[in-house]
Amino acid sequence: MEDILQRYFGYETFRTGQRELISFVLDNESALGILPTGGGKSICYQVPGIIKGGLTLVISPLISLMKDQVDTLNASGISAAYLNSNLKAAEEREIMTGLAYNRYQFLYVAPERFNQLTFRQMLNQLDIKLIAFDEAHCISKWGHDFRPSYRQVINFIGRFSCPFLAVTATATVDVKKDIQSLLNIADDHVIETSTGRDNLAFKVDPTYQKEKMVREYVSSHRHDSGIIYAGTRKQVEALSEQFNHLNIDHTLYHAGLPKAEREENQAKFVNDDCPVMIATNAFGMGIDKSNVRYVIHYNMPQDLESYYQEAGRAGRDGLDSECILLFSDQDIRLQQFFISTSDEAIQEKKKEKLEKMVHYTKTTQCLQGTIINYFNPDEHLQPCGKCGNCLRQGSYNMTTEALKILSCLIRMKEPVNRLLLIKVLRGEDNHEIKDYHYHQLSTFGLLKDYETKDISRFIDTLLFNGYIHEVNGRMICHPSAKEVIMGQTKVMTHYEPINYKEKVTIKTVT
Ligand code: ADP
Ligand code: ZN
Repeated sequence: MEDILQRYFGYETFRTGQRELISFVLDNESALGILPTGGGKSICYQVPGIIKGGLTLVISPLISLMKDQVDTLNASGISAAYLNSNLKAAEEREIMTGLAYNRYQFLYVAPERFNQLTFRQMLNQLDIKLIAFDEAHCISKWGHDFRPSYRQVINFIGRFSCPFLAVTATATVDVKKDIQSLLNIADDHVIETSTGRDNLAFKVDPTYQKEKMVREYVSSHRHDSGIIYAGTRKQVEALSEQFNHLNIDHTLYHAGLPKAEREENQAKFVNDDCPVMIATNAFGMGIDKSNVRYVIHYNMPQDLESYYQEAGRAGRDGLDSECILLFSDQDIRLQQFFISTSDEAIQEKKKEKLEKMVHYTKTTQCLQGTIINYFNPDEHLQPCGKCGNCLRQGSYNMTTEALKILSCLIRMKEPVNRLLLIKVLRGEDNHEIKDYHYHQLSTFGLLKDYETKDISRFIDTLLFNGYIHEVNGRMICHPSAKEVIMGQTKVMTHYEPINYKEKVTIKTVT
């Protein structure tokens, strides 16, 4: 495995999740990988595809991406081809012939191709060793980008005995279950790496002056590359006109533009000839541009999957980037309208998703944590420390101090007087402490390097976050304090203790 990774792709080590997924496939077992955007999903089917020999069929809804992937593979000495509607009849014939002669190791196709009888007949004659589903959320009718053609695909591939590998960056619990049942993937064959992206700072801005905000933001980030997503073509055009007036260098993209113009604009942006892209959500699928420093949403998307996928195009190079969502109540009404015109069978589900999207704009909890929680409800909401809401809650990580305070409080047998708690934490000496043998507690003097004032401020934060309750001037732990004690959550505060003598190294719980 390592050998192939190095020889063909030039990488030394596998990233999280890749090795496990490849191992399943090599053992002829189907698997599902949920890896973040830029996490390296392609390698997960390309490496085992090369090792297994024969043909790997890659089913992807992203026609725009096929050519790039195929060119890259061919450039590394791996023979690959794609079949999609962009090909001329002669090119298509040539590839069909090549397939018949087992000339290719990889074949990329869109799901719609399975509607063709000749294509299906040909597949029956090929030595298919692996079938990969890229952007696998599109298989599921609960996915935000469902393609009905996948029904045909699923019916047909059932006859193949090779393993299936499905990969996606965005799968909710429903979508995950759906993919698993459609492709017959066992629970312990689902590899999910954290959906979190450390380098992204999420912000929500309910401004009434969207235009002004965007103008000022772009002007103060002149040297950065960024995408501005707007809800409609009209909105894209309007913004573009504004930018023209202001002489702000930009380009635009939406499905209403002629194909040649779309492609030209996309190339300008991707090749860094133009820093700003104003676009509808038609832009970005499968675009591999690593240095996007910000993604601004001028309008609120319909669900968090769409939002996270679009916003996630920022910072693929791992450098700090911003994802800003502007929204107004009008956006909610527009999405409600779109839902009312959609397939009735899934309207309820869509409404539910919209509600969660709206919740994101209103929550006071960590924004990135809220998104991760949406995809993995079992995961504890972890403050990221850099989103708009986390910053509002402070930037000093007091998790270690919180743990000490809460443990001490429990050991002192609540309810406890605040001043007495502080004295015990500071390791002070008085008759009350002696009488109750508090000086023999393991938590005695745990915060001896802090001033009384510091500890008192920490306690304030714990009270504010609801981990401690105060009854008649005495303090008791709330059941939620367990999250802190078990190391499942961080506690942030605005208050930076300046008086403590030794700089304590704080391990953040991640
Ligand atoms: P996505 O998960 O978004 O489909 P890609 O498969 O396009 O991501 O991979 C994103 C980038 O990461 C690519 O440039 C790819 O070559 C690179 N990459 C993938 N695996 C590794 C690895 N093990 N080590 C280093 N870079 C990798
Ligand atoms: Zn946060």
